[in-house]
Amino acid sequence: MTTAENQLRREVIRTARALQSTGLTHGTSGNVSVRYNNGMLITPSGIPYEDLEMKKIVFMDLEGGYFGDFLPSSEWRMHMDIYRNYKDAEAVVHCHSARATALSTHNKGIPAFHYMVAVAGGDQIKCADYATFGTKALSKAMIDALEDRTACLLAHHGQIAFGPSLHKALGLAGEVEALADQYLSALVLGEPAPLCPAEMKEILRKFKSYGKQLDTLDGDDAGAFEMPQRRD
Ligand SMILES: [Zn+2]
Repeated sequence: MTTAENQLRREVIRTARALQSTGLTHGTSGNVSVRYNNGMLITPSGIPYEDLEMKKIVFMDLEGGYFGDFLPSSEWRMHMDIYRNYKDAEAVVHCHSARATALSTHNKGIPAFHYMVAVAGGDQIKCADYATFGTKALSKAMIDALEDRTACLLAHHGQIAFGPSLHKALGLAGEVEALADQYLSALVLGEPAPLCPAEMKEILRKFKSYGKQLDTLDGDDAGAFEMPQRRD
């Protein structure tokens, strides 16, 4: 194994354990992968997070083949299909976080009740139709629900998120869980009014430049925020 591969295996383990320590999952549910070498490194099937070791992380190609003595997570197809469909996806996190899962049992996604739904790249976070775990049908439903976004709920199951790094994918799964929590709380008083499409369009535009510094802002981005005045 190369140093780069070892480092990624270590990061996969760290991210999988963070799913537990951040309360995003429990038991052996949930799985994590990172793109590597025309394939992916993915957590193994049914091994408790505390027993994960670098050699137990499974390398798979993007045609459904795996290498080594350990079986990949039963949800490998969802991970594989994300890497195949989204060329900028570098890492995938799937979990059964409590609030997102609760919403998913009502076949409900997260509408534009709060501007932060734009964190997944669209004006809502959809819920994929139900299909049995580990099936091609579930993966297809997931791809349909994702469209051009980076996260979705999975009906009667949980959520899945991807990003440009393991850290970002884990962070997005955390955001989805927080939004599900807030939305469920809001539902106590009835369905909250969604933000209008024009406002969500503006939010999505602002999100493109959010977190950037001056040297990386182009002219168009700079107009997205009221710029503070620089003092000498
Ligand atoms: Zn699952």
